[in-house]
Amino acid sequence: MPGLLRLASIVSLTASTSLRAPARPQSFYDAVVVGAGHNGLACAALLAKAGRSVAVFERCRRLGGAAVSEPDLWPGYTLSTASYVCSLLDPWLVEQLELREHGLAYYRKDPYAFTPLLDGRSLLLGSDRSSNAREIAAFDRRDAAGFEAYVERTERLGRALFDSFSDEQPRFERFDAETQRLLRGSAAELVERFVATPVLQAELVNDGLIGTYLGPYDPGTGYVLAHHLAGRLLNAQGAWAFVRGGMGSVSKALAAAAIRYGAEIFSTAPVTKILAAGGRARGVESGGHRVSAHVVASNAHPRTMFLDLLDSSALDPAFLAKVREWKSTGPSLKLNLALGELPDFSSRPGRNAQPHHGATIHVAPSIDYLQRAFEDARERGESDEPLIECFMQTPTDPSLAPPGKHILAVFAQYFPYDRAGGWTETKREAAADKIVAILARHAPNLPRAIEHRQVLAPPDLETRFGLIGGHIFHGELVPGQIYEDRFATRTPVRDLYLCGSGAHPGGCVSGFPGKRAAAAILHDLRAVR
Ligand SMILES: Cc1cc2nc3c(=O)[nH]c(=O)nc-3n(C[C@H](O)[C@H](O)[C@H](O)COP(=O)(O)OP(=O)(O)OC[C@H]3O[C@@H](n4cnc5c(N)ncnc54)[C@H](O)[C@@H]3O)c2cc1C
Repeated sequence: MPGLLRLASIVSLTASTSLRAPARPQSFYDAVVVGAGHNGLACAALLAKAGRSVAVFERCRRLGGAAVSEPDLWPGYTLSTASYVCSLLDPWLVEQLELREHGLAYYRKDPYAFTPLLDGRSLLLGSDRSSNAREIAAFDRRDAAGFEAYVERTERLGRALFDSFSDEQPRFERFDAETQRLLRGSAAELVERFVATPVLQAELVNDGLIGTYLGPYDPGTGYVLAHHLAGRLLNAQGAWAFVRGGMGSVSKALAAAAIRYGAEIFSTAPVTKILAAGGRARGVESGGHRVSAHVVASNAHPRTMFLDLLDSSALDPAFLAKVREWKSTGPSLKLNLALGELPDFSSRPGRNAQPHHGATIHVAPSIDYLQRAFEDARERGESDEPLIECFMQTPTDPSLAPPGKHILAVFAQYFPYDRAGGWTETKREAAADKIVAILARHAPNLPRAIEHRQVLAPPDLETRFGLIGGHIFHGELVPGQIYEDRFATRTPVRDLYLCGSGAHPGGCVSGFPGKRAAAAILHDLRAVR
């Protein structure tokens, strides 16, 4: 198949890696992986490390799926176009695949949360307990102890989740009754049990809503909150990290490891068909040509995999119904801004880099604000005053922007994929204008500091990254779609595996679905071949 599957653009993955994929794939591999998201890459690297021949086919030019750094949008800037911070990446993968040797480096985002208020006050939280106590006491002295109790309880929740992520048979019932109740409940209830200050409540509830088309009082958002506190990458339960060079460095390190162990990676190589016969997967078709394999692992969204790539007659009606009914309507919009100077917050003035610039910046003063943001979208198509969280890595990693310049990454909800009347260019730009205007209430210099902007509404996330419905996690991460109710790694078709976020434990840059698929494949290959 000369020239049809192009050479992977992986020549300068890291300073120390200059390996090339062959110009064209072989006709047979032990395993073919569909998609080079970070999970597909983790799966491929582990299979290759175990001595299996592996080929990865990625439809995009760049590897990494939603964990990507893009250096070519604006001169001198490197953008984490989609995901921007990391916590859930499995430390086992970092060790096993020697990801640090392949260029992965990260550091704690600390302080971690900042909310400016319009009355001139603000709240800044980080790893320093006495500083947190002072910040909280400025609002309500009683909440300092409540916050400590909240941290202790949610760290336990996060630990329990992390421990369940590698279970061979995911079962929600593994948790004790109290834990199940919290995970099934709402993020608002969980937070309100511990603290009463509105801005503190909002700051804590926020993680229960990320990527999720539900409001703060909706059942199941308790799970989303705990999921965001499950990470152990930094050896501190629930802490989040910035990755040097942006989130693409995670994918680059995984790809470099996969290549080092012998995997072949082909980019700009969409798979158009998963070949199956006699109830088992046999390979894939890409560019009109066939590549055979003992097993196929798909990193694509479950709907892409089961409805578009596979002949659905291979699946029984009940399973197909689950695929069709899978909740994957995303409410999240990403706005990337290149800034000529740092935002100067009225509540903490100054254009010089200060601790709050490196924290996640929120604007919600209360849970009610977040509830209204959700209800507006349900009723009128989008939030009048959206949930907004912003990240700036450039104050701590200046290599990502030209000297003195910065990137403000904004993640906003609710701007649902399926809004009435659909998405137009005008609606995208209006959404971005609205977000900038809200931020400008707190940092008046922001609008004129903007030199470039990129708006990614949910349909753009679908087109660019293959996130069906624009859902950042390959489908909602709430009870009914988690643990035994998420898609299993082993699919109903023999020798066909799901190695992406549609499988347990779901979305975020964790590598768990990829690791779990590799373990299942190696087990099954050993059993029969
Ligand atoms: C805007 C945004 C912000 C986010 N923020 C964070 C964050 O800060 N931290 C965090 O941990 N998580 C975050 N997430 C979620 C996280 O990025 C994803 O859950 C995760 O990256 C998904 O990884 P994956 O490997 O399972 O799938 P994906 O990254 O979706 O990769 C799937 C890959 O399969 C490829 N593919 C699909 N179909 C085919 C085909 N037919 N042939 C070949 N290739 C195919 C796709 O092109 C893609 O490369 C965010 C996501 C988004 C969109």
